[in-house]
Amino acid sequence: MKVITSIKEMQKYIKNQKNEGKTIGFVPTMGYLHEGHLTLMNKARNENDVLAVSIFVNPLQFGPNEDFDSYPRDFNRDFMLAENNGVDVVFHPSTEEMYPNKMSVTANVHSRIDVLCGRQRNGHFDGVATVLVKLFNIVQPDRAYFGLKDAQQVAVVDGLITDFNFPITLVPVEIVREEDGLAKSSRNINLTAKERAEAPRLFESLQMAKQKIDEGQRNPKVIEDLIQAHITTHTSGTIDYVEMYRYPELEELSELTGKIIIAIAVKFTKVRLIDNITFDV
Ligand code: AMP
Repeated sequence: MKVITSIKEMQKYIKNQKNEGKTIGFVPTMGYLHEGHLTLMNKARNENDVLAVSIFVNPLQFGPNEDFDSYPRDFNRDFMLAENNGVDVVFHPSTEEMYPNKMSVTANVHSRIDVLCGRQRNGHFDGVATVLVKLFNIVQPDRAYFGLKDAQQVAVVDGLITDFNFPITLVPVEIVREEDGLAKSSRNINLTAKERAEAPRLFESLQMAKQKIDEGQRNPKVIEDLIQAHITTHTSGTIDYVEMYRYPELEELSELTGKIIIAIAVKFTKVRLIDNITFDV
């Protein structure tokens, strides 16, 4: 497995692979890899000749009061996991390599961001879109793999690829969970033991909501209240949002039919957790 830290070198590597007619599968990550990432990698491994993974904690997508500094990092651990999971090349640039100067041109996301994390995290998706424009130009993948844990990100990347005409197929991948239901996340390590014990209640609340809908409940307010009550009663977290939309459009639901997403964000002491379920009503 190759580890490349320079943009020029990465572009040269990719050019050589493409000259040999190879297809490139790409998994962008912020590292501290877990089974969620590995699932994306395994899928990409099976569908492409070359598997490229980026590990870069992108400062542009963190707000001033967010967890950029405390975001977990362990490159040696990531290296071993990547090597054992069939990765051909890890692109691991420094912040200075990616942003040597203040950007003179950045990407602005206009739709699908006035809800969920987009509303809570001002500028977050502009930062995500900007780094992806750079990474897509550096890695030039045929297919790019993104997890539905970040369902709004998938919706935004879908718009980015379409509007900027990237010749890339977006491959969304289902959420990978711990045995107790907690969605796997690099950030879970920053939960206290008590918070970690409470955290499965998030997914539990989503499952209860789905069950109520399956039983015929069609009032979004009743569903949202049920989730709020469950999380408030059983966890010490503070709810950032509980929202339901049509998916992937992220439009208001005039009635509860079709494909929908129920998404939540809950703040704990050092971590803000997100989770969601998407299903057909
Ligand atoms: P991150 O390193 O958190 O930026 O995540 C990199 C990619 O892995 C993103 O596309 C995430 O949506 C995806 N991902 C993270 N956690 C999970 C999970 N539990 N299940 C599926 N995909 C995930």
